[in-house]
Amino acid sequence: MEISKSKKLFSHAQNFIPGGVNSPVRAFRAVGGEPLFIKKAEGAYLFDEDGNEFIELINSWGPMILGHNHPKIKAAVLEAMETGTSFGAPSAKEVDIAELIVSMVPSVEKVRMVNSGTEATMSAIRVARGYTGRDKFIKLEGHYHGHGDSFLIAAGSGAMTMGDPDSPGVTKGTAKDTLVAPYNDLEAVEKLVAANKGEIAALILEPVPGNMGLCLPKEGYLKGLREICTREGMVLIFDEVMTGFRLAKGGAQELYGVIPDMTTLGKIIGGGMPVGAYGGKKEIMDFVSPAGPVYQAGTLSGNPIAMAAGLAMLTHLNEHPEEYARLNHIGELISEGILNINKELGLNYTVNRLGSMCSMFFTDHEVYDFETAKTSDTGLFGKYFQAMLKRGVYLAPSQFESLFLSTALTDEIIEKILDAHRESMKEIH
Ligand code: PLP
Repeated sequence: MEISKSKKLFSHAQNFIPGGVNSPVRAFRAVGGEPLFIKKAEGAYLFDEDGNEFIELINSWGPMILGHNHPKIKAAVLEAMETGTSFGAPSAKEVDIAELIVSMVPSVEKVRMVNSGTEATMSAIRVARGYTGRDKFIKLEGHYHGHGDSFLIAAGSGAMTMGDPDSPGVTKGTAKDTLVAPYNDLEAVEKLVAANKGEIAALILEPVPGNMGLCLPKEGYLKGLREICTREGMVLIFDEVMTGFRLAKGGAQELYGVIPDMTTLGKIIGGGMPVGAYGGKKEIMDFVSPAGPVYQAGTLSGNPIAMAAGLAMLTHLNEHPEEYARLNHIGELISEGILNINKELGLNYTVNRLGSMCSMFFTDHEVYDFETAKTSDTGLFGKYFQAMLKRGVYLAPSQFESLFLSTALTDEIIEKILDAHRESMKEIH
């Protein structure tokens, strides 16, 4: 049998790139087999080097909410290319996108553009520390805020998938300032606050975490955190890198009506280009250099091509709020379809969904935090992943991720996804 181009590329890549990939979960370690090397992407489909096509349910881990190669974003990028790829000096589009973000995201009065979600969260914590003059912060178990040292403690996403939620290389000195509480547990946060009175700068969380699979906040939880932070003079940071511009125009904060002091953004904000941002109240953001003393900078920050892509994406979402109703409808068709098929087959797996984010956990336990997510049968998920892939459906290669649905999914494509689900579930049980 001829060896596939993907296999050959992966084997070659391992000589030059650690593990053969530039981000760990892409290597398919958690699900077995070798990763596909992607040649192009269009609408709801990915095409690999061997000419196979796959229905996309990850969408580059979130950014491609309008599907791949959307004509408006492509046109904006091509137009920007005509005028140069990087200036290292201010340009008009940076002001346009900042103004648009401020108008869309309730908590953001001023915003700084960076190049990734990781940069956004690292910077936000530094600013919160500078603003409060305190060192410690609280993060929640299974939440992922990128690969900054102080966040790789009980981290979700790839760190959880690869079995390294606490990464070697993070010093004890750094780790001691990161306090960890379980998600959806206000009492645990109260205890940490009481034990570290006046020492905690911030509490950062994914308001609707997608990095241990999708979990939803319990009634009153986000509001409770808001109250604690206000009472204790702590900066509440919503990491909306995943949920921003996805769950609603203004993210989870708009949906739940709980307004943090700072927000971190990424993924959709760049329309597929490497972009992140952090923003918040003026009085906090004015601590950022050169307005204030907290240093943060970037050679390529506000890059003109990236700004053009992001601006085209956000402008479209801002002008077409009906996209959110459509995304919700697509999410409903898929999650209801999965639940019905599972019932037909006598299976009772937990499905969590909000709008266009959805996870099926291979457990019948309710899933609302790190511990309950870990009751999932990851071996069975691996089999399901391969069975779906064989039938042309591309899922995130980990149980501890969410689906990121796009507007490019038509009813006909959704039928194909559900057929693949039925056949895959029959095959693996
Ligand atoms: N924060 C959240 C909630 C994320 O999901 C991610 C990435 O998945 C990040 C931060 C890090 O973003 P990036 O991978 O762009 O550095």
